[in-house]
Amino acid sequence: MTTIEKDETYIAGTYGRFPLEIESGKGSIALGTDGKSYVDMGAGIAVNTFGYADDVMNAAVAAQLSKVQHTSNLYYSEPCALLAEALVKRSGMRKVFFGNSGAEANECAIKTARKWGAEHKGAGANVIVTLLSSVHGRTVTTLSATGQEVFHKHFDPFTPGFRYVTANDVAALESALDEKVAAVMVEFVQGEGGVNVLDPAFVRRLFELKKERNFLVIADEVQTGNGRTGKYFAYEHYGVTPDLVTTAKGLGGGLPIGACLFAESTASVLGKGDHGSTFGGNPAVCAGALTVVERIDDALLAEVTQKGEYIKKRLEGAAGVRSVSGMGLMLGVETLPDAKKVVARCLQKGVLFLTAKSKVRMLPALNVSYPLIDRAIDILLDAIKEEL
Ligand SMILES: *Cc1c(COP(=O)(O)O)cnc(C)c1O
Repeated sequence: MTTIEKDETYIAGTYGRFPLEIESGKGSIALGTDGKSYVDMGAGIAVNTFGYADDVMNAAVAAQLSKVQHTSNLYYSEPCALLAEALVKRSGMRKVFFGNSGAEANECAIKTARKWGAEHKGAGANVIVTLLSSVHGRTVTTLSATGQEVFHKHFDPFTPGFRYVTANDVAALESALDEKVAAVMVEFVQGEGGVNVLDPAFVRRLFELKKERNFLVIADEVQTGNGRTGKYFAYEHYGVTPDLVTTAKGLGGGLPIGACLFAESTASVLGKGDHGSTFGGNPAVCAGALTVVERIDDALLAEVTQKGEYIKKRLEGAAGVRSVSGMGLMLGVETLPDAKKVVARCLQKGVLFLTAKSKVRMLPALNVSYPLIDRAIDILLDAIKEEL
């Protein structure tokens, strides 16, 4: 059997995969078992921050693997402490909890918000307000947090305690914020929901209301974090400081890790025994992630911004392009023809894009080169024309 046949025989049928088996890669080039090379404009889904087979990260991971590949969280371990220090220094947050995925990072933030609500506002102050079109994860609780009806099927009963408001609807936000609300959780740029950037006015009002009505703000930076939007975290574009920040995808440069960052306001909410993870803070993954965080410096962030602006300029006003949304290297392209058909055609032509709702989505490695960007955009524009 081929890999595809084996996959379809033995792997649970939860994924709709593209007809491509990736065998190896270097930087932003993926090599298929079909012998063709592809420009990867998805980087996993915003995961491979420095592309495939990154030498710096691989060296750090290999060195750590040959020392200790795992210790339980009953012992101290240097890579984990160094990564936490780097994240705290980069963000101005105070403490970090490590898990293994975005959903776990959000579970940690949700638990923290609930305990904070009970301690600061009284029993029953456990409601978390989230936005429609959000995505917060696939566990039963993070699915419940996800503000999309399509995700609220099949798996009843869902975790209670979530309330949804339309993004950028200030009036709806204000009326959702009663004394039972412990936190509001937002993606500053919604990813899977369609690459929707939150209005600065909405964010400003959210933080004013936070002062008036005393609740936490959780920034879900699972996708937007780690340089993706041209700042280390997307909330920095708005000049605000959340109480909890979750991140995952790009942090490990391709290896599984999730982190919940606590601001001063939440740094001591969780105590011994309140939370844990067997695999969380894996030393080899943390050693690799440290090389990722250290390289996302101001020069790289400026480059991310410039590349994003360059891509926008090339696409805006082009035939078949309705609009381009997003920031930095997190972009969504509303195309006149069906986005899924455009993306399928791009794959045939040697470029990997993603979709988000009705848009073509791109989340390339932060170090993607201009010649590869040009190749990808040329092919995207050709594919759009052919589908028109
Ligand atoms: C991907 C994503 C998640 C879930 O992350 P997993 O690692 O798949 O659990 C949560 N929030 C946002 C904003 C995401 O993009």
